[in-house]
Amino acid sequence: MSTTTIRLLDNYIAGSWTPARAATGELDVVNPASGEALARVPLSGQADLDAAVAAARAALAEWRAVSTIARARKLFELRERLVARSEDLARSVTREMGKTIGDARAEVARMIEMVEAACAIPTTMQGRILEDVSRGIDAETLRQPVGVCAAIVPFNFPAMVPFWFLPFAIACGNTFVLKPSEQVPLTQQIAFEELDALGLPAGTVNLVNGGREVVEAILDHREIDAVSFVGSAPVARLVYERAAKAGKRVQALGGAKNHMVVMPDAVIDKTVDGIVGSAFGAAGQRCMAGSVVIAVGDAHEQLLGPLVEASRRLRLGDGLDERSDVGPVISCAARDRISDWIERGVTAGAELLLDGRGAGAGELDPAGAFLGPTILDRVGPEMAIAQEEVFGPVLCVIRAHSLDQAIEIINAGRFGNGTSIFTESGASVRRYRHDVQVGMVGVNIGVAAPVAFFPFSGWKDSFLGDLHAHGPDAVEFFTRKKTVTSRFFSDGQGSGSYFVER
Ligand code: NAD
Repeated sequence: MSTTTIRLLDNYIAGSWTPARAATGELDVVNPASGEALARVPLSGQADLDAAVAAARAALAEWRAVSTIARARKLFELRERLVARSEDLARSVTREMGKTIGDARAEVARMIEMVEAACAIPTTMQGRILEDVSRGIDAETLRQPVGVCAAIVPFNFPAMVPFWFLPFAIACGNTFVLKPSEQVPLTQQIAFEELDALGLPAGTVNLVNGGREVVEAILDHREIDAVSFVGSAPVARLVYERAAKAGKRVQALGGAKNHMVVMPDAVIDKTVDGIVGSAFGAAGQRCMAGSVVIAVGDAHEQLLGPLVEASRRLRLGDGLDERSDVGPVISCAARDRISDWIERGVTAGAELLLDGRGAGAGELDPAGAFLGPTILDRVGPEMAIAQEEVFGPVLCVIRAHSLDQAIEIINAGRFGNGTSIFTESGASVRRYRHDVQVGMVGVNIGVAAPVAFFPFSGWKDSFLGDLHAHGPDAVEFFTRKKTVTSRFFSDGQGSGSYFVER
């Protein structure tokens, strides 16, 4: 019998690590490579959220009064602290989520980049002024914090996605409540240890662990002013509608089905590298994962052989093993759901070129949630597997006779997160960029997730709202504008009529 006690995670509220006082239950946090329970996460209740929101509300005036430059300096310090902990953060990501350690290091680097972008706040938060909008009268627009902001985040980027919001929100003078994914709450415990060490006013940042109950309480909470959500499309819609109904500012990033178009003139070896990384990196569990290849004209003739070979060579294993190319999916339940999708694709008439079901059997931990790279050819655009998000290491191949047809297939879908085109033709790229109804486009790049200084700009069912995550949109989302029109009489210049004398 094991004598190890499993840690029950605390929340972080008002500057202290605090046990959940109103938890309605607990869940195991499981390493998907081994089935080992790493910790237990409380499903916090309304009173826990209320305590966090009250702390955030109480901290608002003090944090806002810290000068913009001093807030930026706190973020510089946070950056240094996260860099020093980056290997701990990456190992935590791999342990709780499963992606390979290389992938996890890249995620942590992108997380830190978000902090770097937020350090620019003394520049990016500046307003505008126009002198003499009427004789002796000036108009200026200032940016002020929105108030208490909350974020609800998914399992697939335990380090990075919370940081699409947190650094920008606090840089702008807001206070913040984070609800991590209950499947991967450990990495943010490390991030909050470093936030704690900054000595921010108590309540500036808060962490409330939990699931659906906390989410619903956030959406209805009268003292929360803005909500950022990242997760699946049905929950994104629910969050968007309910938060908007409660009068909040809201941005909700949903699911995806990303296509990669391969033109006959593509440079095949580089294209194969791009497709393999995009389809099977993080075991296909990225919202920017390429899950459908559209091979145009005779592109499939040169592409499919090398693509299947390169995918077959990928080594499946524990993400902490530096030799692994593909880690497990998030859970055994997810593995079984993805396996069902493969069966449905075959039943619908697709041809299985590579079958990852049962891969690693006899070599890998049988309690791990392993599923190898899978490729289905001759997939019809009307098939459910071509339209719905599978969120696993499954790549569909559709054959199209022209770029126009490829664009039509993509535009007919309900998602519009990311897409890539592989070609050396400037004219094809120009056409594609102009006509494709997708918010993030890669040209000869498989995963075109924008860097922190640009917005993460999905469209259609992949995004509900108007201001996107990070980049300049983050400053827009986390500030509200105030326009001041002013004049003074003592200098003799402001005495005309504001409306008439222009
Ligand atoms: P999910 O929707 O199941 O969970 C996301 C968050 O919502 C979690 O914090 C969870 O606790 C909460 N939640 C889940 N069900 C809920 C419900 N019924 N009511 C209220 N709250 C609920 O998503 P996931 O499985 O954790 O993450 C994977 C999904 O996230 C994929 O669809 C992926 O495409 C998407 N995603 C999108 C982006 C993007 O930028 N568009 C980025 C990352 C992930």
